[in-house]
Amino acid sequence: DRKPRVFSGIQPTSDSFHLGNYLGALRQWVALQDDSDALYCVVDQHAITVDHDPKVLHERSRVSAAQLLALGVDPERCILFIQSQVPEHAMLAWILGSETGMGEASRMTQFKDKSAKQERTTVGLFTYPILMAADILLYQTDQVPVGEDQRQHLELSRDLAGRFNTTYGKTFIVPEPYIVKETATIKDLSDPEKKMSKTSSGPRGCLYLLDDANVMRKKIKSAVTDSEAQVRYDLEHKPGVSNLLNIYAAVGDTTVEKLEADYAGKGYGDFKGDLAEVVAEAFGPVAVKTREYLADKAELDRILTAGAEKARHLATRTIDKAYKKIGF
Ligand code: ADP
Repeated sequence: DRKPRVFSGIQPTSDSFHLGNYLGALRQWVALQDDSDALYCVVDQHAITVDHDPKVLHERSRVSAAQLLALGVDPERCILFIQSQVPEHAMLAWILGSETGMGEASRMTQFKDKSAKQERTTVGLFTYPILMAADILLYQTDQVPVGEDQRQHLELSRDLAGRFNTTYGKTFIVPEPYIVKETATIKDLSDPEKKMSKTSSGPRGCLYLLDDANVMRKKIKSAVTDSEAQVRYDLEHKPGVSNLLNIYAAVGDTTVEKLEADYAGKGYGDFKGDLAEVVAEAFGPVAVKTREYLADKAELDRILTAGAEKARHLATRTIDKAYKKIGF
């Protein structure tokens, strides 16, 4: 029996991924490689649905791929590629767009949130969930690791797959959500009421994977806590300390309970100092490796071209099928 096919994508919308991206998504990418047949995609076509600078986008796509490799996404065990290098995504999106009702597309809440923040809203931003459905259905994906924020889009992908199959005959696998190992949302270090985010976090609130190790240490040590001086998990009353406990448990591969016991009677200074070392040790080498991948342009190109070729090989099979069914 074959391994489940997994597809996941991430937008190249910042110069570095942050700790929230890693703990909430990318950590699973690395973990899923062995027990599944995984495709991982830097979705640059999604990134042009809002304002962007072409040079910056190009660079960010490469930096994103390099970071994924540095984190342990292994092109020998999965298919890693850049979306725009596989034209079948856009081809299938066109077909699926013609199967999507205006009403159902209009119900996507992320569009409402994102368009409210833009000066100029594009049709591309509106049809974004249809391109995402194409990304997934193109590879006959069984499972899609998704966070809460992408649930509604995955539901649309499932509806479109089912409807197309019913109307034209079996063409697509209807993908299931893969519920990722429960990770609490990582909170902003300087404002633990908010989630850690590249767009809304201030300079100290977001821990970037490409931060220098000393910058990481500083950010952890200056994280907002409370005046109780007890390392205890209490999301409501102690959101700062609870966030640090979540980070420590995840990065240090331990549990909150064990950490509470270890730090009983100790102050925040000890706790933060140890966490700063755990984080710097875990991600310091990622930054170094990312720079190594970026320094060898030919090798990075080779990896991404090979990934795109493998992806296209699978994608053309689905496109051939869908084209026949639709009457092309
Ligand atoms: P941002 O909020 O910084 O713009 P994205 O929306 O690009 O991040 O998120 C990419 C992935 O990272 C998504 O799967 C999302 O669920 C995950 N993610 C982002 N921020 C966090 C966070 N603070 N905690 C946990 N997961 C997160």
